[in-house]
Amino acid sequence: MTTSRIAERVRRIKPSPSTSAADRANELRRQGKAIVNLVVGEPDFDTPAHIRQAAAAAIENGATRYTLMAGTVELRQAIAAKLERENGLSYALNEIIATSGAKSAIFSALSITLEPGDEVIIPAPYWVSYPDMVLASDGVPVTVACPEADGFKLTPAKLEAAITARTRWLLLNSPSNPTGASYTGAEYRALADVLARHPQVLVMTDDIYEHIRFDDQRTPHLLNVAPELRDRTLAINGVSKTYAMTGWRIGWLAGPRDLVQALDTLLSQSTGNCCSVSQAAAAAALNGPQHFVAESVLIYKQRRDRTLQQINAIPGLSCRAPDGAFYLYVNCAGLIGKTTPDGQRLDADGDVVMYLLDSVGVAVVAGTAYGLSPYFRLSIATSIDNLDQGCSRIAQAVAALH
Ligand code: PMP
Repeated sequence: MTTSRIAERVRRIKPSPSTSAADRANELRRQGKAIVNLVVGEPDFDTPAHIRQAAAAAIENGATRYTLMAGTVELRQAIAAKLERENGLSYALNEIIATSGAKSAIFSALSITLEPGDEVIIPAPYWVSYPDMVLASDGVPVTVACPEADGFKLTPAKLEAAITARTRWLLLNSPSNPTGASYTGAEYRALADVLARHPQVLVMTDDIYEHIRFDDQRTPHLLNVAPELRDRTLAINGVSKTYAMTGWRIGWLAGPRDLVQALDTLLSQSTGNCCSVSQAAAAAALNGPQHFVAESVLIYKQRRDRTLQQINAIPGLSCRAPDGAFYLYVNCAGLIGKTTPDGQRLDADGDVVMYLLDSVGVAVVAGTAYGLSPYFRLSIATSIDNLDQGCSRIAQAVAALH
C-alpha cells in the first residue's frame, strides 16, 4: 500500500515514540538479550481485587449492552462525586462524558474545536501524544520550551508571548509526564491572570497523574484558584494511573455544556459509548476504598528516592526530583560530546539512549520525544530490582565513555 492512500493530516503524525522504544526493547529481548525495560508508562501493579470483582459481577448482572453515550448514570455520578470530594469542583451529569481513556477525551476535544491553522500551546517537555493529536486535527502545535531552571513549568511571560489571535487551546499537564513537575496554586493563578486578557483561549487540564504526588503534597486544580475559567476549561482525567487500570480504557472529561454536547455527538457517531464492563469497574474504583492509592504512591516514592540517588551519583547525569507521576527526566548534558568504546561520538540524547540500549541493554526514551533535550525519561513503574539493575548498568556504560 502506498502512503498516498492515507490522508495528509494522518501522514503528518508519527507513532508514539515510547511505543517504538518499547518495541525495540522487546525485539532485542526476543533475540535473547537481557533487557532492563525502563520505558513503560503504566503502573506495574494489578488492578485492586474489589474493582476486578465489581467488573465480574457487572458481567454476570447483564452490564453487557450499549450504555448511554456519555456513560452510565452510575459512573457519571461517581465522577461528579469524585470531582466534588477530591477537587472541590461541581459538575452536573450532563457536563461529564466517560471516554475510552483520557487519550480519547483529549483527542476528541481537539477534533471538535480546531479549525485548520488554529494553534495549541503545549509547554515542553510534553506528553508525546499532544503535538500529534493537534496535527491530526489540522491544528498547529506551538511548543514552548520550559527549561529545568524554571522547574520545567510554563511561566506567565512565556504564555503571554506564545498567545496569538489563532490560539485556541493551552494544554496543561500537572503532575507532568515526563518531568513530574506540578504547578502550585500560585503558579496557576499567575497563568490565569494572563489568560484573563485572552478570552479566546480554552484550557485543557490533563489531570491523569493528580494522585501520584510525593512529599505529602496535594495537586491543586487550576479551577480551584481561577474559578472564572470554568466556562473555558475542560478537565481531563481517568482511572488508568490512579487505580492501575490502563487496560480498562476509562477516562473522562468535565466541562462547559456546549463542548460536552458537541463531543457527545461526535463520539456517538464514531466510537459509541466506552466499554460497559469497564464503566462498572471504574465506578467501583471511584466509589470504593481508596487505600490502594496511598499504598502505591508510597511504593513509587521509595523507588523515586532510591533511583534518584543512584542516578545523581553518576558523573555526567543529574535529575531534578519529580513532584509526582512515575518518571525521572534525567539530564544527560554531561555525556554529550563523549565517545563510546566503539569510537562513536554522543552528539544528542538519541545517541545516549541507543548507546545505553546497545551496550548495557537498558531501555529508556530520548528527550527529543518530549520536546526538550538533552534528557532521557526513565520510568519508575517497575520493581526496585529492575531499577537497581538499570542504574548499575547505566553507571557501567557511562564509566566506559571517554
Ligand atoms: N495523559 C498523559 C499525560 C499520559 O501520560 C497518559 C498515559 N500515558 C494519558 C493521558 C492517557 O491515559 P489513558 O490511559 O486514560 O488514555
